[in-house]
Amino acid sequence: MIIDTHAHLDMDQYDTDREAVIQRARDEGVEYIVNIGCDVESSLRSMELAEQYDFIYATAGIHPHDVKTIGETTYAELRKLWAHPKVIAVGEIGLDYFKNYSPQDLQRTHFRKQVELARELGKPIIVHCRDANEDMAAILSEYYPKNEKARSGIFHCFSGDQKLADRALEMGFYISFSGSVTFNKSDELRAVAKTIPADRLFVETDCPFLAPMPKRGKRNEPAFVNFTTERIAEVRGLRVEDVQRTSELNFFELFGIGKNAPTGTVSYQIRNSLYLNLTTRCTDDCVFCTRLTRPVVQGYNLKLDREPTAQEVWESIDDPTKYEEVVFCGYGEPTLRLDVIKEVAKKIKDAGGRVRLNTNGHGNVINKRNILPELKGLIDEMSVSLNTDSSEAYDEICRPLPAFRNGIYDKIKEFIAEAKKYIPKVQATIVTQQQGVDESACEDIIKKEFGVDYRARRYNMVG
Ligand code: SF4
Ligand SMILES: [Zn+2]
Ligand SMILES: [Zn+2]
Repeated sequence: MIIDTHAHLDMDQYDTDREAVIQRARDEGVEYIVNIGCDVESSLRSMELAEQYDFIYATAGIHPHDVKTIGETTYAELRKLWAHPKVIAVGEIGLDYFKNYSPQDLQRTHFRKQVELARELGKPIIVHCRDANEDMAAILSEYYPKNEKARSGIFHCFSGDQKLADRALEMGFYISFSGSVTFNKSDELRAVAKTIPADRLFVETDCPFLAPMPKRGKRNEPAFVNFTTERIAEVRGLRVEDVQRTSELNFFELFGIGKNAPTGTVSYQIRNSLYLNLTTRCTDDCVFCTRLTRPVVQGYNLKLDREPTAQEVWESIDDPTKYEEVVFCGYGEPTLRLDVIKEVAKKIKDAGGRVRLNTNGHGNVINKRNILPELKGLIDEMSVSLNTDSSEAYDEICRPLPAFRNGIYDKIKEFIAEAKKYIPKVQATIVTQQQGVDESACEDIIKKEFGVDYRARRYNMVG
């Protein structure tokens, strides 16, 4: 689903052809547009557009540029707008120390005031922040404490650094990128875009401004949002559909508009790989795992009401040769269902497909035998999560079930060493940014002890 989370279609740049612009967005498949208010007038016009078009929603708020125009009746008028069912957020509000069109202390005062009102009304905020990273993070942290996990709003047209992005994420915010991420000189911004977890990412136009490449310099419009989506997808090594799917779920989770992701997903495509979801059971309970709270990966909900049979798994794969690889993965340990892996992997191999298994390496302990000879010829590649550089750290971070606690770390290492004999390609992975884990020590263990590939993945990046 294509969504433009930030447009200013009420502006006079569209006075001569507004309807045509909106029609073009529809023709290009844009299913939702959020039209953003910057002062009382534009908030009112946004609301009118939202009343006129089903798929347009509005926000109301006073932009930092315009806080100097706030008068006695402004807040009363805003309150009326916020009560409208299609006015879904407070914004855009924030701090702009680049243009400084309003005095900075006044910007801070009215930013605080509007944040307080948003909290009171339970509405998300649309944040505009330019050259004000420190003050922005400091003010927001008063209202959106760390770890509260309140989905608080969107940092729109993100132009901050990694530090601001990380702080925004900690406070539960989403990050939205505009056409500026497509510009040639935006390498740093693209590097930040790469690190935003899929469940916190949005794309927008901020039209009529900041038209993305190859439309740069022209008047921007919602129909151009996919140029930005394409660049984001490319930077993140994903397909455009992958970014659209995650935005769709994020939009639903933040605003309650659109569709929730259905549960019971057995197979799901990300990039050119097809993933198979056999179970949500696991012999670990990793501190960073959201298996039990939010088993969502790249916009797919992997919650299973029951575990699929081998036949059902096989039938969920249309044609294994269509994909680069078919991966036993999911939020759970696949080797708990070894028979299903073997049966389905055999069929995939017979059909000419390539098979990967992602595992926590407990397979031999779970099945009480060396299962690796049984996987020979069925699995082309195996990725084992080692995660830590010591047994103690493993127990603390991966929190194996009691029956798996004593010395499981060494058993995983044995599993990796044994896997090398039977599986053509073996890789061990760690999750980065865990306290007490020395990442270079992990890399050493993996490369020197086992001579297998090493891959680090950021703790909040799944899929
Ligand atoms: S091994 Fe994987 S599925 Fe199991 S708890 Fe850890 S992260 Fe979650
Ligand atoms: Zn803005
Ligand atoms: Zn804007």
